[in-house]
Amino acid sequence: MTDPITTALRRLPTPRCAYLYDTTALRTRTATLRAALPPRTTLLYAVKANGHPDVVHTLASACDGLEVASGGELALAVQARARRIVFGGPAKTDAELAAAVTAGALLNVESPHELRRLAALGVHTDICLRINRTHPAPAGSHTMTGTPTPFGIDETQLPQVLADIPDGLRVIGFHLHAVSNNLDGHAHAEFLTDTIDWSQRTAHHHDITLRIVNAGGGLGIDYLTQNSIDLTPLADVTVPDHIELILEPGRYLTADAGWYATEVLDLKTTHGRTFAVLRGGTHHFRLPAAWGYSHPFTVIPIDDWPHPYPRLSIHDTPIDAVGELCTPRDVLTRNQHVPHLRTGDLLLYARAGAYGWDISHHDFLRHEPPTFLTL
Ligand SMILES: *Cc1c(COP(=O)(O)O)cnc(C)c1O
Repeated sequence: MTDPITTALRRLPTPRCAYLYDTTALRTRTATLRAALPPRTTLLYAVKANGHPDVVHTLASACDGLEVASGGELALAVQARARRIVFGGPAKTDAELAAAVTAGALLNVESPHELRRLAALGVHTDICLRINRTHPAPAGSHTMTGTPTPFGIDETQLPQVLADIPDGLRVIGFHLHAVSNNLDGHAHAEFLTDTIDWSQRTAHHHDITLRIVNAGGGLGIDYLTQNSIDLTPLADVTVPDHIELILEPGRYLTADAGWYATEVLDLKTTHGRTFAVLRGGTHHFRLPAAWGYSHPFTVIPIDDWPHPYPRLSIHDTPIDAVGELCTPRDVLTRNQHVPHLRTGDLLLYARAGAYGWDISHHDFLRHEPPTFLTL
């Protein structure tokens, strides 16, 4: 629990509910990652992890650029004056393709149909092809390659696709984003090396001048401990002279720069289990429900109690922290022991800066959104 966070939260009107983003933490994290990467690596931020404009602006300048996957994210990236923009996604509209080309973005093309649509727009541009490899991906929470997915071109169809590249388009590289939340640094380094090797072999075989190898994101955070992926092995990856390796992490850059805080509105015990009922929940912070884990919290005590009725208080009790939605699935934390907790205190969720607010179903039950504070 850092002090500026507590101070900012205490100033809020009650009932308190807020997301806090720390731009200094974003910059520090970016610098740490950059220092761990091999030479000739370009670091982009994947905007889908957190599209808050302050986060996007900060990372547009701290990183080399941004990775976007929709017209909305593209507009944010242009506004943030990103120096480099890479545009991917399996369902780009004509309007998005045209806007991406206008913005000078590098496109990751995901199907032969998309290639023909792009050519029909009359654009002349260099592109990368996103490939779903035959070879399975390293371990992680989602795998997007070596398995049936809507992402990219099946490796076995690549020869046919390359034989039919429309005029005006030139393939200069491959995009091989394959995994999310990989916690094994050695496995990730191996994945990068293998991705570069595969790209070189494939480019050579098809007479492509390879300039770009995009290995996507996937650097992991362990929500149940204080751990993150060990970056040390990444420095040993060799990026050949004439090749630019692009990495585009989202979670690793933003997770630790965001907090979600919410006030305890009620405390109750039913059928032997104690619940802290929060002014907030999974419609603000869906990650634990989406991934099926229990997100740990810390308690921020709030001493004032201006109400005429008694304050509820529990000691030494395991609690479930649940939200304000009328569904039993609105659970952020199960069975976390609290030494002391009162109505009016706050639960603070750290590591909430990635895939928190952005992946949540905000309008379900039409409660007020949280306050957003940028430190
Ligand atoms: C989601 C995504 C990323 C970022 O993934 P993280 O697991 O947040 O690092 C990068 N590239 C692409 C293509 C993605 O879809």
